Amino acid sequence: MAKYKLVAKKGLGQNFLADANILRKIVAAAQLSPSDLVLEIGPGLGALTVALAEAAGRVIAVETDRSLAPLLAEVLADQDNVGLVFGDILKLDPVTLLGPEHNGAKVVANLPYYVTTPIIFHLLESTVPWRSLVFLVQKEVADRMVSPPGNKVYGALSVMIQFYCHVELVGVVPPTVFIPRPKVHSAIVRLVPKPKEYSPETDRCFSLLVRTVFSSRRKNLYNSLRSIILQLGGEEKVRAALQTLGLDPLQRGETLSPAEFYALAAYCGKDLNDSTRN
Ligand code: SAM
Repeated sequence: MAKYKLVAKKGLGQNFLADANILRKIVAAAQLSPSDLVLEIGPGLGALTVALAEAAGRVIAVETDRSLAPLLAEVLADQDNVGLVFGDILKLDPVTLLGPEHNGAKVVANLPYYVTTPIIFHLLESTVPWRSLVFLVQKEVADRMVSPPGNKVYGALSVMIQFYCHVELVGVVPPTVFIPRPKVHSAIVRLVPKPKEYSPETDRCFSLLVRTVFSSRRKNLYNSLRSIILQLGGEEKVRAALQTLGLDPLQRGETLSPAEFYALAAYCGKDLNDSTRN
């Protein structure tokens, strides 16, 4: 970095990995083989990119900070299987980035902490059928991803991630392995998407239900749903849904499992008012 007169940009979440063991652990979690195509978000100084390029068939690395271009060109000079793209991953379509071979591609990333959740959802909402996604995230985020219902960190992220993916906490990573050091611990998580067989209406209703319930987590389920009752098809419909699904209107919404949220969405989703699109 000194050679290129670079300083880590806090605003871009630049905490660079400087520990060969952790790099190995991340690459091992992705279970890479020479036939794999990998999307890396935020190559930074390229340490993880080199490790990925050695284990996978091809790596597409997307970096928003163009000032890293000369350094990355030098670090990746010997890696002829790496494609570098400069841009904001949130504005890029993974299908276009990866090209016709995108089926079964993998994601590996030490994510910038300021934008972790939007990036994960951007990737999961794309039409790429990912084989797996391995992320290094703040430990607090990893805890939310794997939390069961009833835990105080169980929230919208837990429900959405766990419904669409199998999630595994691979290991905890201390601040000492980064330059500069973050204030908090990090963790490696591995997501394997479940086969998709859902309808867009149900998905939309699922997302609305989850957001609504966790924006008023102390309310009971029925009172939480009152604010969106018309969108869900009216009072009668919602009462019938709860009864059919064996859900107590007086239980707190935050106690519902991901499958229960989805079942409720499947029941009410068909009547979802169009105003809830997006
Ligand atoms: N992969 C490197 C490593 O492990 O040392 C760097 C990881 S660092 C935590 C996050 C990287 O993501 C930084 O290089 C940062 O510039 C980049 N970044 C931040 N926001 C981004 C975005 N929206 N799209 C693409 N890259 C981004």
